[in-house]
Amino acid sequence: MTDSTLANQFLPPNHDHGDCVARAMATAEALCRDRGLRFTRLRRRVLELIWDSHKPVGAYDILESLNRSGKRAAPPTVYRALGFLIEADLVHRLNSLNAFIGCADPQHSHSGQFLICRECLSVAELDDSDISALVLAKAAGLGFSAVDQMLEIQGLCRDCARGG
Ligand SMILES: [Zn+2]
Ligand SMILES: [Zn+2]
Ligand SMILES: [Zn+2]
Repeated sequence: MTDSTLANQFLPPNHDHGDCVARAMATAEALCRDRGLRFTRLRRRVLELIWDSHKPVGAYDILESLNRSGKRAAPPTVYRALGFLIEADLVHRLNSLNAFIGCADPQHSHSGQFLICRECLSVAELDDSDISALVLAKAAGLGFSAVDQMLEIQGLCRDCARGG
């Protein structure tokens, strides 16, 4: 199992999440350096908060956490930081949950297919180029030029399916 696929899977609750966070932050660091983007303290902090777990985080929760840690941040500033992280492919916005999730593979452009567990809210990314290509082809068949696609698939992860 390679690093990037590892991070795309549903991981058992007892996995070493410190590893996930360390890898995500190192990747973000490198990506910003390569693209000449400014990885400011706030942007870094917001990304860390999003990577707190493999569950999506709402903007309000991010604001709360920042304020709790004594780092008062105005909502527009936090929204701008989120916008930056999304633009840089470091974070995905899940529309169905109105929440954010860290991208495990931001260095490769992809249109995400997200598996969202309804029970524990864990999220895994498929990023299957066959699926994206098929969607593009089917859309083109209707004369539609698709520019962006995000598939959000709801269900149960293996652990929750077993528990239920
Ligand atoms: Zn993890
Ligand atoms: Zn991604
Ligand atoms: Zn689950």
